[in-house]
Formats: sequence, C-alpha cells, structure tokens
Amino acid sequence: MTSQALAAMRAAAAATHPREACGILLGEGGRIISARPTRNVHPTPETRFEIDPQALIDAHRAARAGGLEVVGYFHSHPAGAAAPSATDRAMAAGDGRIWAIIAGGNVTFWRDGEQGFAPLSFARIDS
Ligand SMILES: [Zn+2]
Repeated sequence: MTSQALAAMRAAAAATHPREACGILLGEGGRIISARPTRNVHPTPETRFEIDPQALIDAHRAARAGGLEVVGYFHSHPAGAAAPSATDRAMAAGDGRIWAIIAGGNVTFWRDGEQGFAPLSFARIDS
C-alpha cells in the first residue's frame, strides 16, 4: 500500500460524492502500488458501481505487457459504512482479489475469497 494509492482513493470518493467512486487497484505480489479511478458506468451510481469495462480491459492488457497487475478494485459508499454491503457480497467473484471500500474518509480492505469477504490489515503505509 502506498500513500499515493490511499490519497487517490480518498480524492476520487470526494470528487464523485454523492455518487459512488470506483476504480482499479494496481500492484505486484498482492501489494497495492497504485489506485486508478475509473468511470462508474452503473445506471444508478448513487448506490451501485460498475467499473468502466474498457478501463478494466486496458489494465489487464497493460499487465500482460509487463505492467502492474490488477490486484483488486475500490469503490466508495457515499452514505454507508466502510464494509462490504449486501450488494457487494452478491457481486463478489470470489477470485481472491482485494476490495478497498471508502466511507467517511476511512478506507478498509477485504479479500474477496471463496468463503466471502475477509478483512485485511494494511496498517503499514509505504510512501
Ligand atoms: Zn459497496
């Protein structure tokens, strides 16, 4: 986790409020290096999010070309808690990627595993 990634997620959440912000977490070896905000293309962005599919395609293509891996996703809860919602649990792929959720300035991290979301500790900030 880098302070840049944290700052980018908080800035995206503030800029899109009261709609949900979303984006892609890039890194290597499961470590988050960068957070890249994308458009939220969901038709009801006040309560839902859908990462711009073209941005995801571009990120995976860049990773295959030797760039940073897609290690996860982030989104904000403009009116909710910094924890996975029922909607998030329904959307989860169980693919082991990291989900970061921003609410009220707090950022929490979760592993989207086969058994559901498990909280992750990212107390250490590498600047
Ligand atoms: Zn959510």
